[in-house]
Amino acid sequence: MLFMQNRTGATRRDFLRRTAVGAGAALTAGLAKAAGKTILTFYMDDTNPYQVGVDAFKQFLDFIQANKLAGESSMILGFRWEEFGLISRPRTALQRAYIEQLRRAHECGMDSHMELMTHDGLLDFATGRAPRGVEHEGIWLYEPAVSVDQYEAYFGNIIKEGENIGVRFTGATWPGCGCAACTRRDAELRKNGVLNENPNLWKALLNLAKRGKFRGPTVPLFTVSDPHPTRAVAREGKFGVYDLPPHIHDNLGIWENNPARVNADAYITADGKSGAMVEKIRAGAPYFVFYGHWQGLNPANGVGWPAFKQVVARVKQHYGDRVVWMRPSALSELIHSGQVA
Ligand SMILES: [Zn+2]
Ligand SMILES: [Zn+2]
Repeated sequence: MLFMQNRTGATRRDFLRRTAVGAGAALTAGLAKAAGKTILTFYMDDTNPYQVGVDAFKQFLDFIQANKLAGESSMILGFRWEEFGLISRPRTALQRAYIEQLRRAHECGMDSHMELMTHDGLLDFATGRAPRGVEHEGIWLYEPAVSVDQYEAYFGNIIKEGENIGVRFTGATWPGCGCAACTRRDAELRKNGVLNENPNLWKALLNLAKRGKFRGPTVPLFTVSDPHPTRAVAREGKFGVYDLPPHIHDNLGIWENNPARVNADAYITADGKSGAMVEKIRAGAPYFVFYGHWQGLNPANGVGWPAFKQVVARVKQHYGDRVVWMRPSALSELIHSGQVA
């Protein structure tokens, strides 16, 4: 996620419909846990094994598990495919070690979003390569000419690559790109009045959910980072697709691993009296969503990692009995049932 941050200005304000659907056992358990508390969750974009190795990801998961946190971390199976090939068709010990951690992530409390397949060009799954000059995945989600079938096939192929190595996706995050081609195409689309994703995309994701291709019946999405209301973009019976945006920009180093962009106080100050997270908790808000990037948040060299741990410790100290950490897909279940709005 880095581009198209202003797209939401024109977003259709499709507020949640609070239709109650029969609550299953997992949902009931989630509700009991959340009763009267503010649910905390987060997204971590751009997670990969190449930048700082696999041990850092293991360390991150250990921390989440030990502190009973929950959130989401991107699983990008074709990340930097030109140098390394597909993680879903592993050929190195590093990739195999990473797959082990990906398989483990869910039991540690972490969801896995596809930040699509490559975070770059559209992959030809037959060859395992993205043809030179092919359109990038992020902007393709806005292309008005793409059919439901085309979206469903592409996302379905990513899910199949995951199945081949025993990992499942819970949701999706839009891969941002500021390259010249994407910027140019974005401007063209806007000029033609295309400000939002192609609605065929929502149908395709709902179809995949109905076919049991995601881990759960509801699919949370991290689309753009500008604040906007949570919205159901597609729903049918117990299935739903939810645009579940963060409430604050990345103050954990962003994708630049930039110390000037680290600020734990933006979430919660040391005295627990202010910060965006604190405001939500004190107002009795049902949930608070934040996000970071692996570049800034990884435990090996991420400048945001100490701040993340500080936020976790502060919230535990000041509001331990008023919050509950929850994975985004569990939160989207509660929203879908109408129990959390
Ligand atoms: Zn990204
Ligand atoms: Zn691009």
